[in-house]
Amino acid sequence: MTVFQARLPNPRKNSRGTAMGRNGRTGNGVVSSRTWKENMSVSNTRLPLVDPQGRTLNYLRVAVTDRCNLRCRYCMPAEGVKQVSHDDILTLEETHRLCSLFSELGVRKIRITGGEPLVRKGVVPFIGSLAKLPARPEVLLTTNGLVLEEHLEELKAGGLKRINLSLDSLDAKTWKKITRREGFEKVRAAVDRVLEMGMGLKLNVVVLPGLNDLEIPDFVELTRHAAMAVRFIEPMPFDGAGKALEDTIDGDEILLRLRAKYELTPIGRQDGAVDNLFTVRGFKGTVGIIEGHSRTFCATCSRLRIDSRGRLRTCLYGAPGVSLLKMIREGGTDDDLEKAIRNDLSFRFKDGKKAELAHHLVGLESMASIGG
Ligand code: SAM
Ligand code: SF4
Repeated sequence: MTVFQARLPNPRKNSRGTAMGRNGRTGNGVVSSRTWKENMSVSNTRLPLVDPQGRTLNYLRVAVTDRCNLRCRYCMPAEGVKQVSHDDILTLEETHRLCSLFSELGVRKIRITGGEPLVRKGVVPFIGSLAKLPARPEVLLTTNGLVLEEHLEELKAGGLKRINLSLDSLDAKTWKKITRREGFEKVRAAVDRVLEMGMGLKLNVVVLPGLNDLEIPDFVELTRHAAMAVRFIEPMPFDGAGKALEDTIDGDEILLRLRAKYELTPIGRQDGAVDNLFTVRGFKGTVGIIEGHSRTFCATCSRLRIDSRGRLRTCLYGAPGVSLLKMIREGGTDDDLEKAIRNDLSFRFKDGKKAELAHHLVGLESMASIGG
């Protein structure tokens, strides 16, 4: 039995029947205002989340850990990665409570990310439990695929239908150079297995000039016979080392290279999505470009994030907001949390460039702690 399964169905209760969290603390310790079962049957009386620009926030990305079994060069330094202490990371019960609250607040899509989410103990049943929340949010996973294959059956049985898998090279040596670890074959096997199992698959490829940019056509070829998406991502300044992007590439250049070889038909961005999608003549799948650094999609951004320290982030490029973790552990009720979330949202910047100007630490954080 996993830690999550062991804790959730049989939480210890305090005198109010409230589930007690880690270490059994209440008051200034870990307090959850509702039990897991109560989370499952709550009725929705909360209004949707809307920011000052009128954008509805209906997509939540949760970094369940900052730990990772790879060291991708655009995401983390090779050595000396600073890790968040275990005590400063939300427990899965706390995360479940927040996801439940956000789904009452109109969130329809919850993405579990990290760090590498699959290194978090108990995360597989946890993902299944989110899919069963009363509002039935769509639950999604972003993973580097290294330990994915062994969990696929359980993930699918738990309700996971679609996976985003990061794979930056189709060549074992280049992959190792980018990720600074072994395991390419395991990731490739996971890609094939996801497709065999009929699950939705989007491959994320961060385009790195001089490393994998010449592989763009090889990635497009994957979509010839498979109904999957390949999305090419502009590198963003979140390597945790504070280095500026030394050699980068933007979406326009990626598009030029795609058009040089393929006949593309735009299908555009769907429902606040960040990927600009295209069909390729004669191919089953789609290709896309994510202009994460150019930030061309802010006007319709519907995303909120909870980072690996349990802080709300209303923009990838902005400063962290309220510590939901701290509020929960100080005994905050769901109404308190809702108030704090709405308060942060009232300061949400119009776009990521304005958010970056106001937040001077962009680049010092790793994407692994923010969640991508
Ligand atoms: N470990 C998982 C993975 O790699 O898929 C999930 C977390 S990772 C932070 C989420 C996504 O962010 C991945 O697709 C990754 O490629 C992307 N990413 C990380 N650092 C990035 C950067 N500096 N620029 C652009 N994308 C980045
Ligand atoms: Fe780990 Fe994902 Fe960051 Fe690569 S991109 S180091 S796999 S968190």
